[in-house]
Amino acid sequence: MKSPLENFSLKKYNTFGVEARAEYFIELTSADQIREFIKTGQFKTLPFLVLGEGSNVLFTTDFNGIVIRPLIRGIEKTGETAEHVLLKVGAGENWDEFVKYCVENNLGGLENLSFIPGSVGACPVQNIGAYGVEVKDKIEYVEAIELSGNRIVKYAASECIFDYRYSIFKEKLKNKVIITRVVFRLDKEPKYVTKYGNIEKELDKYPETNLQNIRQVVINIRTEKLPDPSRLGNAGSFFKNPVVTGDTLKHIHQFYPKIPYWKIDEDKYKISAAWLIEQCHYHKKRIGRTGTYPKQPLVIVNYGQATGKDILNLAKKIQKAIKNHFAIALEPEVNII
Ligand SMILES: Cc1cc2nc3c(=O)[nH]c(=O)nc-3n(C[C@H](O)[C@H](O)[C@H](O)COP(=O)(O)OP(=O)(O)OC[C@H]3O[C@@H](n4cnc5c(N)ncnc54)[C@H](O)[C@@H]3O)c2cc1C
Repeated sequence: MKSPLENFSLKKYNTFGVEARAEYFIELTSADQIREFIKTGQFKTLPFLVLGEGSNVLFTTDFNGIVIRPLIRGIEKTGETAEHVLLKVGAGENWDEFVKYCVENNLGGLENLSFIPGSVGACPVQNIGAYGVEVKDKIEYVEAIELSGNRIVKYAASECIFDYRYSIFKEKLKNKVIITRVVFRLDKEPKYVTKYGNIEKELDKYPETNLQNIRQVVINIRTEKLPDPSRLGNAGSFFKNPVVTGDTLKHIHQFYPKIPYWKIDEDKYKISAAWLIEQCHYHKKRIGRTGTYPKQPLVIVNYGQATGKDILNLAKKIQKAIKNHFAIALEPEVNII
């Protein structure tokens, strides 16, 4: 087995494009390689971080330990019924390439999640979602290496505690498992989800509603609204939309009747974090080498040469302003390291 690289720059391995060094860095291309590596003294004694494509992490300092990238590839059909096809996909596959594959093979369910950066292995971690769809609804099970026993385990979707930008892999199983493959259950007869955002309106420009056109519409909307990380470093939404009780919402509503919110459950309401940021005058804000993206204040961008600490400082200022003004704690969506 190859040895880890030492003192490795992670600048190209995080979409914020900030400099940070990993004491050790290794890319492993199979579950067996990962299981071999777990047995080494080096792995047993040092802290580690699993890294996909680095599109949901902020490095605020060097990582004194081992960064492991699972680059397991492959898309394999493992089952089929009259309605569904099961696909087992390697953690190292690029997410959007996989969505494209599904659309080209007329398999429905993931098209609204087109153009989200990152790897397949990371998709269950925060239960990626966009345009009215969350990946949890198409995951059959997640296959992972459980580090304590160095064995392969399967987590059925029902065991993953999926929620809004949340799963068991974000907390209880964080640093306990490495996801190696994800199995998806895709629809042979696609059920289109077009009510969200401008999808329906944009689809009017196309002769018919099909997977390919939905994918194209989503790509167009995202390209228009979100910064391209290869030009302007960012990790998508920096914060989650806060979820509050009816009483809290009622209180804020008295003073801000225009507050955008969505009922998500009995006595649970999601409030637009972008709106909160705007009310606190942090939209279109630039502080030195970092700022909020003018078209979408939830996205914090690196205008070039920003450090992870610069970005974190801005995030903390925004959190403080919202806490002082609305008594709401904004939670980061990005994994801060
Ligand atoms: C421009 C832009 C737009 C975005 N839009 C969206 C969006 O619409 N919806 C959305 O949900 N997200 C969005 N994101 C966030 C990001 O794309 C997703 O969170 C994505 O799933 C991260 O994948 P990654 O491979 O880059 O993960 P990384 O950033 O490398 O890792 C993220 C977390 O997952 C863990 N992890 C990664 N791989 C594994 C593995 N194999 N096993 C165990 N743990 C692992 C890491 O340790 C880390 O904690 C956006 C990001 C950008 C830059």
